[in-house]
Amino acid sequence: MTYPPSQSDADREALLTDAIDWAQAHGLLVRPSQDKVADFANHSLVTHAPFTLYPTPFPRAEFEKAKGLQQPWNTLIHKLSEDDALISEVMESLSEVDDFMQKLYDIYLKVKEEGVAQKASLGIHRCDYLLHAEPGADAKTARIQQVEFNTIASSFGSLSTWTSKLHRYLLQASERYAGGLINIDQLPENRSIQAIAGGIASAWKLYGNPNARVMMVVQPGERNAFDQRWIEYELLESHGIRLLRRTLEEIEDSGKLDAKSKTLTIEGHEIAVAYFRSGYAPTDFPSHKEWAARLKVERSLSIKCPTVAYQIVGAKKVQQLLSVPGRLERYVDVYTAELLRESFTGLYPFDSSPQGQQAYKLALQSPERFVMKPQREGGGNNIYGDDIVEALNKLSNEERTAFILMELIRSPPLENLMVREGKLIEGEVASELGIYGIYLNDGDKASVNEIGGHLLRTKAHATKEGGVAAGFAVIDSPLLV
Ligand code: ADP
Ligand code: MG
Repeated sequence: MTYPPSQSDADREALLTDAIDWAQAHGLLVRPSQDKVADFANHSLVTHAPFTLYPTPFPRAEFEKAKGLQQPWNTLIHKLSEDDALISEVMESLSEVDDFMQKLYDIYLKVKEEGVAQKASLGIHRCDYLLHAEPGADAKTARIQQVEFNTIASSFGSLSTWTSKLHRYLLQASERYAGGLINIDQLPENRSIQAIAGGIASAWKLYGNPNARVMMVVQPGERNAFDQRWIEYELLESHGIRLLRRTLEEIEDSGKLDAKSKTLTIEGHEIAVAYFRSGYAPTDFPSHKEWAARLKVERSLSIKCPTVAYQIVGAKKVQQLLSVPGRLERYVDVYTAELLRESFTGLYPFDSSPQGQQAYKLALQSPERFVMKPQREGGGNNIYGDDIVEALNKLSNEERTAFILMELIRSPPLENLMVREGKLIEGEVASELGIYGIYLNDGDKASVNEIGGHLLRTKAHATKEGGVAAGFAVIDSPLLV
């Protein structure tokens, strides 16, 4: 059986048109890159978000397993964020070698010193997994392995909801689409928009001022604005909550922190929830102004998504530490620890410990087995293969500790058709599954702990990186098999 189903060129062209029109009619959109927009004013030129024409097969049991891990992860991330000793341990190894992490830590320390104004915290996380099968083994033996967990600006929830619906539409609208190969109940419902907006709404209610607003902290010139807008529209339409979009620079210019009450107001509007879709990369902080804005928000009474503590424990260094035997058991029972660990692949430090020395040797000997990662988010930062050797030869012992080493997860190749800027790209692909986690803690206990839908991102199998915004991957939905 071939998948995706083979078709005449004419049928495929017709499907492509159906899919693009549906995407554009439903807001499955992004802004094109700067060089294409010259003739259009006010950012009015849009294109469909890149997507797959077909859902990509994914083992149902592994999909359910990933979902089952999400609530334990939500709880674990919160516990990590409360572990002051862990945060100082992590920063001890990073502060000299990672200026960005150090600046976040400075904010953490400053707010700790003056006393945290807001006990509650909101998490909108995403745990990402790739399927792994040993080279040569049957694809049926593939199991999920965790790539990373994201605690800030986990994106594509909205566009993912629409891509799931796009594939359902194509299946229902035309029998030529799947020719009986896909059954509707193999396409799981995906309510990420509702889940993310619902989490923000819960935090807004907890804050307790019916006149207050939500602030989405955005990057100037965001191309992925529609993914964000759907959350804003859902908040207004289903919860009656208003949202402001502001850049860090604007927050510094017009945000006022009341010295006594610690309320944050922007142009007269009190901010109940600060939801960050910016502030995860050094490029989001071109000057001291943006850092001042980040500190201002952190010091305020607004409920942060994420707090600086959540952001720090989302570092890849923490992921590596959690894989050290016994570490997980500090936060969860042995049963849960075992369950979470099943999805871990080899993770190593690059420090002066015997394990770190061993990792250094291994990486030089067999670089093709590994990926080397700095403490960065947003895609395009990792080092693979021979570049690892080159990088290690350039770095001092100390500089090396800013990275972790991770074993490569080897996804069995599948076939699908990707659509980017209206053009079909055919070939072998690999998919990365993300599960959203929605978590609200009021300072004493969790008042929300939910699975927030899913995301499947698919890239050409030969491409190593995986981000959609970074231009490597397209948005997909799982076909459960
Ligand atoms: P970022 O924070 O930049 O998203 P990730 O850890 O998610 O960093 O890595 C980016 C991409 O690199 C992933 O989406 C995935 O495609 C690829 N990748 C990362 N880690 C591994 C791994 N261990 N094995 C195979 N591919 C990986
Ligand atoms: Mg990632």
